[in-house]
Amino acid sequence: MRILLIEDDPHIGDGIAAGLKKLGMAADWFSDGLQGRDAAALAPYDAAVLDLGLPGMDGMEVLRAWRQSGLSFPVLILTARDALPDRLAGLNGGADDYLCKPFALEELAARLNALVRRSQGRSDSGLTFGRLKLDTAAQTATLGGEPLDLTAREWRLLEMLVSKPKHIVSRAQIEDRLYGWEQEVESNAVEVHIHNLRKKIGASVIQTKRGLGYCLGEAP
Ligand code: CA
Repeated sequence: MRILLIEDDPHIGDGIAAGLKKLGMAADWFSDGLQGRDAAALAPYDAAVLDLGLPGMDGMEVLRAWRQSGLSFPVLILTARDALPDRLAGLNGGADDYLCKPFALEELAARLNALVRRSQGRSDSGLTFGRLKLDTAAQTATLGGEPLDLTAREWRLLEMLVSKPKHIVSRAQIEDRLYGWEQEVESNAVEVHIHNLRKKIGASVIQTKRGLGYCLGEAP
């Protein structure tokens, strides 16, 4: 899952970016409204976290610009506590959810997961492939009822594959979703994740399509 984060407070921005990365989401962080607005068109973001008071361009204007240009990804706005006019303006302006500062990172992550799930047309939080079951709200997976011990990135990668069972996912797409621009990606990082996943869920569950990427193979 790749998140566009626009927040000018360095402590809040750093806390969110670092926290989301720990949860296996890639977060690209911008502190300027104008740069953030333009960044939305440059990568396949699953959702955006948008502060309202920003240098360069106000958060509400950023949101309006996105919606006018047809960008429909879910947007969660960050507002000051009790700023009811801000919340209403945000929701009326095309935001999908809001959080009042200060907030717990776990709540932000849970809401982002719910927004992305809804935007992909999935109403419940379960994904199934054979005996493999993923709970996208809890970010856990089981195989035949047994809990799987997955790293955050392995979990995200598995979610990408299981949520689009007939699609081939390229290495570049996987790198895009698991790492942001700021992180150096080792050239074999995706292969290593795939290798480790296969050891945990079975070698034939993930197929390599040479030159193209990966897709689901045999249901476990
Ligand atoms: Ca601000």
